[in-house]
Amino acid sequence: MDAQDYTLSAISLIFMAAPERALELEEDIQRLRPQFRRRDNIGGWLLDSGYSAVNFTDVALQQLWVMAHGAWQAYRSGQRALEEYHALDDSHFVLVDYRLAESRVKEAHALAKLIGEHPRGEIPQFPSWLPSLDQYDETDVEQRAVHDLAKIARAFCFLHELEHLRLDETGRDGLEPVDEEMECDLGAIRYLLDSANIYASSEDVDLTTVMFKRTLGISLALYGVFVLTASEAHLSTSSHPPPSERLAQLVAYVLNTIPPESAFWVVLHAMLATCFDDATEPRVLSLADKDWRVQTVALILELTGHDLTKVHHENFGQ
Ligand SMILES: [Zn+2]
Repeated sequence: MDAQDYTLSAISLIFMAAPERALELEEDIQRLRPQFRRRDNIGGWLLDSGYSAVNFTDVALQQLWVMAHGAWQAYRSGQRALEEYHALDDSHFVLVDYRLAESRVKEAHALAKLIGEHPRGEIPQFPSWLPSLDQYDETDVEQRAVHDLAKIARAFCFLHELEHLRLDETGRDGLEPVDEEMECDLGAIRYLLDSANIYASSEDVDLTTVMFKRTLGISLALYGVFVLTASEAHLSTSSHPPPSERLAQLVAYVLNTIPPESAFWVVLHAMLATCFDDATEPRVLSLADKDWRVQTVALILELTGHDLTKVHHENFGQ
């Protein structure tokens, strides 16, 4: 199987996702000497690591891209719900209609699955609303935003694999494979979020905005994993935790950092609802306290059984 060296591109992608960690990244690269290899498609998802190498195929990149666009459709419906809610200011309830978004979200899900199922990873025709990989219109604000989020999602996936390589070096000390996956997610989450304040103050931008963008990018990656493995969504395999657990870990991590009024919670709620619901009717939410974070936490409880309001007592496999 031929492989194309993608190391410089991968490192620059990680650098762009969290420029404030440049020094740390350089040290990691010096020590781990990772090789990123873009391999020929063999059909199915390939993104793994071992022996200092991170291997992936076009299929994985294409699927992440398509899922990012699917998630964006959920984002739009969440935004619309928020606008409609503001219009219903004296109401304690709001009807959130995700059905329109769902048709496109489901179209993206089906396409991502199709991409994964082709034995040689040939890329099928995209629907007209979905631009092909990296062929986006730079003048279109929405397309540029999805492109940026998809890059963060990709950086998160590469960082997750770097965490595996780090464990190759330091040893696992009896760490179970399922726990290792959660730990690698957490390492990648912390890399992208823990120093966001340094970036925000050096660039003189709002910290909540930086957190919003980065956390949404991570959510896209985990959402993609969720949807692509949806048939086994509530089962863990011997080596991988259920994807909903991985999303719950992310939400638990940002629960007290991203304020309740941030649009992040609206978006995440829509993403989760469109991928878990099979709605035939608009979802009715009680928004008496105007707190979408509360709604999202309730949805996570419904999906995973994790009560994030008691998150400090939870053990997410760390
Ligand atoms: Zn992994």
